[in-house]
Amino acid sequence: MRTLFRDLWLADGSGAPLRRSAVLAGDGKILAVEPDLPRSAAERTVELGGRILAPGFIDVHGHSDLALPARPEGFGKISQGITTEIMGNCGLSAFPLTGRNREHLQELWAQYGVTLDWSDFRGWRAALSARAPKLRAEALAGHNTLRAAVAGYETETLTSAQLEEMKTLLDAELAAGAAGLSSGLLYVPGKFAPPGEIVELMRVAARRDRPYATHLRSEGNELLEALGETIDCAREAGLRRLHISHFKTAGAANWEKLDAALELLEEAQKGGIAVTVDRYPYTESMTQLSVILPGKAGDLDDSALSRLLRSTEEREKLALELAASRPAAYWKTVTLVSTRSSAGRNHAGQTIAALAERAGRTPAEFAVELLAEDAAGTTAAFRGMSPENMRRILGLPFCMMGSDENARPADDSIGRCHPRGFGSAARFLRLRLDTGSPIEAAVRQMTGLAAETFQLADRGLVRPGLCADLAAFDPDEVDGTADFSNPHTPAAGIIFTVTGGEFVYRS
Ligand SMILES: [Zn+2]
Ligand SMILES: [Zn+2]
Repeated sequence: MRTLFRDLWLADGSGAPLRRSAVLAGDGKILAVEPDLPRSAAERTVELGGRILAPGFIDVHGHSDLALPARPEGFGKISQGITTEIMGNCGLSAFPLTGRNREHLQELWAQYGVTLDWSDFRGWRAALSARAPKLRAEALAGHNTLRAAVAGYETETLTSAQLEEMKTLLDAELAAGAAGLSSGLLYVPGKFAPPGEIVELMRVAARRDRPYATHLRSEGNELLEALGETIDCAREAGLRRLHISHFKTAGAANWEKLDAALELLEEAQKGGIAVTVDRYPYTESMTQLSVILPGKAGDLDDSALSRLLRSTEEREKLALELAASRPAAYWKTVTLVSTRSSAGRNHAGQTIAALAERAGRTPAEFAVELLAEDAAGTTAAFRGMSPENMRRILGLPFCMMGSDENARPADDSIGRCHPRGFGSAARFLRLRLDTGSPIEAAVRQMTGLAAETFQLADRGLVRPGLCADLAAFDPDEVDGTADFSNPHTPAAGIIFTVTGGEFVYRS
């Protein structure tokens, strides 16, 4: 069926000024974009009352690798106008799988109830396609998954044969259609990788002209060192496309480092590297609670940590160590987001400090208790980002929107999310428009720029021949309204979302 969209201002994704247009879609594609088209051109006409039509938004930083096969409606994403998500971020992808990483990842993703019975990108993609998802999915090959596929989660130094095997696996996944390479150098086992290992993998990505997206080794105290390391690696490897994931200055003591960080990026850009970044429009980060563990416990993968915490003695020891590693005030800045642990299951959205007080435990004891019951699935949000720096980062012409979240259903049957799971795209627009950005420039950051960076040639613009992926919004109303108490709340001001010419969401 042909659909005609009329009475609208078109932000076509290229950054060109808004213009009055009519857009005709059919057979999944954009068929025509003209100043006006008659109603007779289509079987169905949608009038927008002078509001904005844009390309479907591209979430360049998602983690729906298993959430989408589990719940293919992808409601949290499509309800904010997102039509494509890039998954496999932060070094964690659902492929390749071998005897060395399959069991671990099955446990990590237990909450989704999906059996990991594939072995590579093609297998994952086929499993996803069989579920007919409402959201288009692309995926990076994750360094942590690749490394674990050849050497498990405990190996600190790879042999040259293991490194070669990992390069071969990466190259095969890129050849099969993986969108690039990602890393998560904060996590096990990526944190064990020396720069030389990253250079070798970057070379593989560079040969295929694919991007490397990185969750840096540090985003706070060692931010500049971590950025410097990454850029040096990129230079050495001849990498042309370097993408910094969820770019931030974490921790108040590091807020002043933004100028120096931007100088490093600019210098790399002048040297010919296309450096881009993504950012979620919130000042709280979210990840597994286990990242706060000090010492040896911090180097354990989730399964090994679960085994360790079966011992009462080890739990007590770790709680003391953890308490000593953090000031008391820290626990007021950590909010529980999701857990299957009985101690926390019904208390998401509250701080660890408040929950511990109610339970009559120290915050460290309470945190260890959560991890003992659910090491893999317990997630928390951490305050500590500057709102001013966030606005500056969102305003960078090479910054795009990345939610850093899974596509969730309206209910919490596969876990609760950070408010960014439902609000990122709308809030990105709100913050950009409120700081004076033209609508077309903000839309470009979330569409054309993202498609260019991740080489999605059939998306990101409203042009004849491209996919009919569209998002309509009201620029006065648009905003992410989800919060930590009610994270699964659809965004305001999103009128509809169209994927391949079909309505997948209407407000
Ligand atoms: Zn990350
Ligand atoms: Zn991430």
